[in-house]
Amino acid sequence: MAEKQKDLVKFILERNKLQSADFRSPGSQLARRLYRAQHPSEIIALKCMDGRLNLSVMTHTPPGIIKPYRNIGGKFDLGWPFFGRLMLDDIEHAVSKGRPTYVLSTYHFSKGDVHRGCAGHKYDTDAARAGAVRLRDQFESAFGANHTTVFPLVIGMETDEGGLVFHGKGKRTFDIANHADAPLESIHSELRHMYPDIPDNVLEDLLPLVAGNQKYVRDIRAAHRPVVEMEHKEQIIAVGRGFDWLHLPNRALMIGPYDPQWENAVAVAGTIVLANMKAKRIPEKEGALLLVLAPFRSVGADHGVANEKALYLEREAERVLREKVPAIMKKLKILVGTVDMNTRTFHLLKKS
Ligand SMILES: [Zn+2]
Repeated sequence: MAEKQKDLVKFILERNKLQSADFRSPGSQLARRLYRAQHPSEIIALKCMDGRLNLSVMTHTPPGIIKPYRNIGGKFDLGWPFFGRLMLDDIEHAVSKGRPTYVLSTYHFSKGDVHRGCAGHKYDTDAARAGAVRLRDQFESAFGANHTTVFPLVIGMETDEGGLVFHGKGKRTFDIANHADAPLESIHSELRHMYPDIPDNVLEDLLPLVAGNQKYVRDIRAAHRPVVEMEHKEQIIAVGRGFDWLHLPNRALMIGPYDPQWENAVAVAGTIVLANMKAKRIPEKEGALLLVLAPFRSVGADHGVANEKALYLEREAERVLREKVPAIMKKLKILVGTVDMNTRTFHLLKKS
C-alpha cells in the first residue's frame, strides 16, 4: 500500500483523509458505540515508541477504543506533572461515565533475536519487564490496589509473531502465542485464575482483545512474514499526541511529551530512523518525516492552545534533531498540525 508512495507528506495527508472519513462513517461510529456498550471498560495502553507496536492492530480492535500513550522504552512516571494530570483526567472521565479502566503497562521483546527487542532498554527484556511492573505498582498505589475501578496489568508484546503475554502477580503468565487456537472459554478460565480480584463483568472486556490477538498471531503465522519485516523500518518521527488514526505498524516512532525531558527521546528516534535509512530498510527516495500533532476536542480556545502546542513541540523537536542528529536534516520533511479528536481530521499548520 505505502510501498509506491514517494512523498511522505502527501502519503500522511492522504492517509488521514481516508482514516478520518472511515472514523466518521456511520458504520464505524455505530461499531464503536456498540463496542463500548458491550465492553464498557476504558483501555489505556502505555507503550514504547517502537513503531512495530500497535495494540489496536495486534488485537483487531477498531481505532478509537484503546487509548495509546507512547514514550521511549514504555517508560512513564505518574509523578511527571503532565502525564499524571492526563491519567487522572482519563480515569475521572471513566468514573463519571460509570466505567472501569484498564491500564495496560506494556513492554516488548522478540523471541527470535534479543536485538529485535527494546532499544529503549538496551535490549534487556528483564529490565523492560521490570519497568512495566514498577509502573503497574505506581498505578496501584496511586489509584488504589483494591481493584474496584482501575485495573493496571503488565502485558508483554512479542514482536516476531505479535502475541501478547499477560502477567499476573508473581511469576504467573499467559502467553497467547501458545494458545492461538484455544477456545475462548478456556482462556477465560485461565485469566479468571490469574486475576482473581477483577470482577467478572470487567474481565469480560479483556476477551475481545485476546480473541483479536489470537487471530492476529494465526494470520502472521499463515503469512510466513519474513524476518526483515520485524526489524525497524520506521521513517516517521511522530511527536505529540493523537496519532491513533495512523493505524500502521512499523512506519512511525511515536513520542508523547510526557517526560519533562521528552526531547531526548526525539534524538533517539532520529538516530533509529537514520539507521533505517543507512541500512536501506526504507526507500532512499522517501527520506524521513517529522510529524508533529496536538489533539483538540472543541473549537475555540481548545483548538487555539493545541495550535500553539504543536508549534512549540515542532520547534523543540527540530532543534534537538539539528543538534543531536544533524545528518538526518537533509532528508527530513516536516509536517505540523492539530487533530480534531471527534473526527480524527488533521488541520494543517505547517509543512516543508
Ligand atoms: Zn522499545
